[in-house]
Amino acid sequence: MEGKKMNLETLCVQSGWQPKNGEPRVLPIYQSTTFKYDNSEQMADLFDLKASGYFYTRLQNPTNDAVAAKIAALEGGVGAMLTSSGQAANFYAIFNICQAGDHFITTNNIYGGTFNLFGVTMKKLGIECTFVDQDWSDEKIQAEFRPNTKCFFGETISNPGCNIFDIERFAKLAHKNGVPLIVDNTFATPINCRPFEWGADIVTHSTTKYMDGHAMAVGGVLVDSGNFDWEANAEKFPGLCAPDDSYHGLTYTKSFGKAAYITKSTVQLMRDLGSIQSPQNAFLLNIGLETLHLRVPRHCENALKVAEWLQNRPEVAWVNYPDLKNNKNNELCKKYLPNGSCGVMAFGLKGDRETAIKFMDAFKFICIVTHVADARTCVLHPASHTHRQLSDEQLRAGGVSPDLIRLSIGIENVNDIIADLEQAFVEIKK
Ligand SMILES: *Cc1c(COP(=O)(O)O)cnc(C)c1O
Repeated sequence: MEGKKMNLETLCVQSGWQPKNGEPRVLPIYQSTTFKYDNSEQMADLFDLKASGYFYTRLQNPTNDAVAAKIAALEGGVGAMLTSSGQAANFYAIFNICQAGDHFITTNNIYGGTFNLFGVTMKKLGIECTFVDQDWSDEKIQAEFRPNTKCFFGETISNPGCNIFDIERFAKLAHKNGVPLIVDNTFATPINCRPFEWGADIVTHSTTKYMDGHAMAVGGVLVDSGNFDWEANAEKFPGLCAPDDSYHGLTYTKSFGKAAYITKSTVQLMRDLGSIQSPQNAFLLNIGLETLHLRVPRHCENALKVAEWLQNRPEVAWVNYPDLKNNKNNELCKKYLPNGSCGVMAFGLKGDRETAIKFMDAFKFICIVTHVADARTCVLHPASHTHRQLSDEQLRAGGVSPDLIRLSIGIENVNDIIADLEQAFVEIKK
């Protein structure tokens, strides 16, 4: 397989687009909704999935596929599909194997948007979700599995709680119950953690974050390891193991083997729900991916210095960054993220809500934005921004305290970042 033996740095640059003789060296943007065929039968074979090829960009586009192939190579999967956003990726990941009447389990330490999607919107579709605390014992979590449970979900590094998901433990628990483990690997990126190596079956990303890395394009990706044995649990997964009426009774596991899950998500969900990433955005994402291996280590190096500096400040009540030795997640961090977690951390100031707001308003170049994980250092107060729909109780259950300030460290010179924080501390005392 292309790129299998190459190192991550090389895959970032070289995998994906493979030009043939005389073709453009750089990935072209296939800015075309449609693709031309010589005769009617060729087109008919595509619609019947008897032949593979492009026919309409709502399902597949060559620019997107080259970028998806690069991400699949980085994660070590058999295939990937780009989506219009990270939200769409997580929705497709679940909806590809769950239907009305089904149930799944997630840790409660997840991104606020995903929390709403799972707890509120999926419920309206008849899919029920149980939120568990990953600190619970195996027995207590096992008790939440039901006969209609179809998957287990978690985030490698939770946004914004910075908790580390014990991938190996939950892969074992999921597999014991005959269901796959789905991991949102957005914050870690495949540079710092590849969940398939720890037993995860499906990986998702909001490519909007480090993968793009420049805050240019919203996007997502769904990656299939090809490792989960759907047929061994065929009664749980009729969508994959029983004939699909919308393709004349084709069965995905029989026709596509290890790529059954990712093929179904493309030819069925993307066909019907249509949240494709635009080829323009895929092109931009590819530029981001070419430097992912350079940017991620710098984010981590800067963030660790800032976290160490913050925890020695008298104005700071607490700092949550998994790479700090005294952090409750440090053991898991060393196991799953030995080269560093990411650039995102959370901390609280001594004082009230107003202190936090005053502090954030005092920054010179650090900006208040609803974003994390791009080249520019930025800050957010989840209780008044991203998570404002949640009650204080729900916030705490999700590992987000009302005084939590989320800081996303960029790739500027770390001394300038610290200087901006330091002058803000002086400002709040005025
Ligand atoms: C941002 C984010 C999402 C949602 O992605 P969008 O691209 O904003 O739709 C999902 N999961 C995590 C961990 C995120 O940080």
